[in-house]
Amino acid sequence: MVNCEASGPIILQVAIAVPVNRLFDYCAPAGCKIEDVKPGVRVLAPFGKGRKVGLVVAVGSHSELDADRLKQISQILDTEPLLSATDLELLLWASRYYHHPPGEVLMAAFPAALRQGKPAAIQQEASFVLSPLGLETLPEQLKRAPRQKALLERFHAQGGAIRSTEIKSCKAALKTLLEKGLLVACRPDSIPQVVRLNPILAANAEQQAAIVAIIGGLGHFAVYLLEGVTGSGKTEVYMQAIAAVLRQGLQVLVLLPEISLTPQLEQRFRRRFNDVPIVSFHSRLTDAQRLNAWLSMQQAGAAIMLGTRSALFTPMKAPGLIILDEEHDASFKQQEGFRFSARDVAIARAQRLAVPVVLGSATPSLESLFNVERRRYQPLYLSCRAGNAVDPVFQLLDIRNKKMQSGLSEQLIAAIKSTLAQKQQVLLFLNRRGYAPVQICHGCGQVSRCRHCDANLVIHAAQSLLRCHHCGAEQALIRCCPACHSGDLQAVGMGTERLEQVLTTLFPDQSVVRLDKDSTQRKGALEDYLQQINCGEADIILGTQMLAKGHHFPNVTLVAILDIDSGLFSIDFRAGEKLAQVIVQVAGRAGRADKPGRVILQTRQPRHPLLLTLLDSGYRAFAQSALQERRQAGLPPYSHQVLFRVHAANAQAPQQFLQAVCSLIAEANSGATRVLGPAPAPMARRAGQYRFQLLLQNPGRRDLHGLLDAVLPAIANLQEARTVRWSLDVDPLDLY
Ligand code: ADP
Ligand code: ZN
Ligand code: ZN
Repeated sequence: MVNCEASGPIILQVAIAVPVNRLFDYCAPAGCKIEDVKPGVRVLAPFGKGRKVGLVVAVGSHSELDADRLKQISQILDTEPLLSATDLELLLWASRYYHHPPGEVLMAAFPAALRQGKPAAIQQEASFVLSPLGLETLPEQLKRAPRQKALLERFHAQGGAIRSTEIKSCKAALKTLLEKGLLVACRPDSIPQVVRLNPILAANAEQQAAIVAIIGGLGHFAVYLLEGVTGSGKTEVYMQAIAAVLRQGLQVLVLLPEISLTPQLEQRFRRRFNDVPIVSFHSRLTDAQRLNAWLSMQQAGAAIMLGTRSALFTPMKAPGLIILDEEHDASFKQQEGFRFSARDVAIARAQRLAVPVVLGSATPSLESLFNVERRRYQPLYLSCRAGNAVDPVFQLLDIRNKKMQSGLSEQLIAAIKSTLAQKQQVLLFLNRRGYAPVQICHGCGQVSRCRHCDANLVIHAAQSLLRCHHCGAEQALIRCCPACHSGDLQAVGMGTERLEQVLTTLFPDQSVVRLDKDSTQRKGALEDYLQQINCGEADIILGTQMLAKGHHFPNVTLVAILDIDSGLFSIDFRAGEKLAQVIVQVAGRAGRADKPGRVILQTRQPRHPLLLTLLDSGYRAFAQSALQERRQAGLPPYSHQVLFRVHAANAQAPQQFLQAVCSLIAEANSGATRVLGPAPAPMARRAGQYRFQLLLQNPGRRDLHGLLDAVLPAIANLQEARTVRWSLDVDPLDLY
């Protein structure tokens, strides 16, 4: 077949995204010279009946297989490596640490276009930028020409530059603004030169100390935990540290939980750094946009990348600093496939790149606080709010035996009224979307359940639907009980959709904006709502978790947290930590500007220790006591866990598989690893699949991973493994 032995065979070790725990050896194409192929280039390799895109991990002259039995690479796709040796090594480490197939891990570093084998070339796109005249022109001056005004507003809002593909629909307005000299066309590769739109703020003493520490650490590895109360100006610290990195000609990777939920934050960066190329990287972009962003960091055309966890592996030609904002946020953990923690891997990456990492949060994870205690991370504090803002005042509202109006106590309603009377905004947090979580028959008590899951169906009244929030199954709203044929079906409990209805009835003259996954489905809807809130067109804002995500609403002075009691009784040992974080984060939306804020928590558990500690002594005190409890119970961060998750359509198969796994573990266990289970998952059936799990826990990480290394090959070969789907979650964040 191949004649690669003529001048000694060139053997390529290739990573291919298949669920097998190994790399694959191939022969280089005929006539290929050793200098034509380097680790980090992509290849097209014959695989099975077809071909797959793979990544060369090593180039050598030896294979454990017979050279003439090796298949030949079909094509080498890149002339230069796309990943550096350091990043390749990091990814291979991550593959070992997470016990996830190396091909899947390595290919996860690439944007979809590169995984599909598309050329690694930036797709040229022209853009338009504001001219100096355009910068000085206020959009209001164009109010006679609404389209031109709107377009000018967009340029001002987006830091002065917009790609031509993003303004296709406004051709006429664009032409006029170009003719008036307000805009200029810009070559795709040139950097728009626009004056700063957002001035650098004079840092306060604590901010200054944090900035000095971070800048002093540039050039080598260190982890900083920037713990700053909500509104303390963490972003300003990031931006001034970034400025120093840019002055050294280096690049910065900024990881954020969900950028698309916080377009304001992206705008703040663009307005501050509008003279340097910034790219963003998240799931709402097109494949082409992600490809361009990735390549421009790789080639150093861009200086800053703002991205979600999937941006973590973006190569940097001149790495200077990694920032991970809201480090406690669960969205940094990938919950399927390659289940990595972007926070933990960012630290491993920074160590290899010899750059500092800054983790920022008002409510740091217990893991990070533990690492500060162990002196692995350096703490930096911002203890008070920046500017004129003061900390919000908390009030626990005991609602036991109180008269309630659709989930709102009279005291809360009065507080809302008085806030609205002062023309200030109110924010209500209820972490349950839909109309009501339960539909029950008043005749016989039957509850509408999902056919595929151990879960109730949630009422979505606006669409007349019952929907399962776990598998997505939908059915029309039931009007007649299938069991007793009664027509008296009632909605029990309160979701955001119902709360919105209640609020519009209670406050008919006020405008209510609801922010949740349902109301923001439509593209651009979230941006519209945020705009509405920020220009004062919303009086009452209500929503779910989405409200806890670092928004800056200057006119909100009252925050109410409606139903937290369920969170106090969860079986998950992290539930307390998550609840404390969400309370502090949501409360942090109150009083962020000149007017003081107030936070009301409705509860039937006013003496609950978690609430008392948190409200009387603050998050830090809560975290200290929670860490004590974890230590006494031997739970993470004082031990390490891995979770086997198994599911199958057959009810018995998962348990049988895990019993076989247990026997293998028992043989190899040094005794230090605790084996908990097998047990049914907290939701034992989801999407028609029966689910079981097995938890391993060990105070020593090395011992635990040694055990896994010893047993995983045998587990993969188990007879029982053929009838189930299973995966391993290293450092799991929850059991669901
Ligand atoms: P965080 O990210 O810590 O919640 P932000 O960075 O959003 O806080 O800052 C909150 C507000 O305080 C913003 O409006 C910001 O412009 C302002 N701010 C930050 N630092 C300063 C400062 N040194 N002087 C005045 N205002 C500041
Ligand atoms: Zn009935
Ligand atoms: Zn379901």
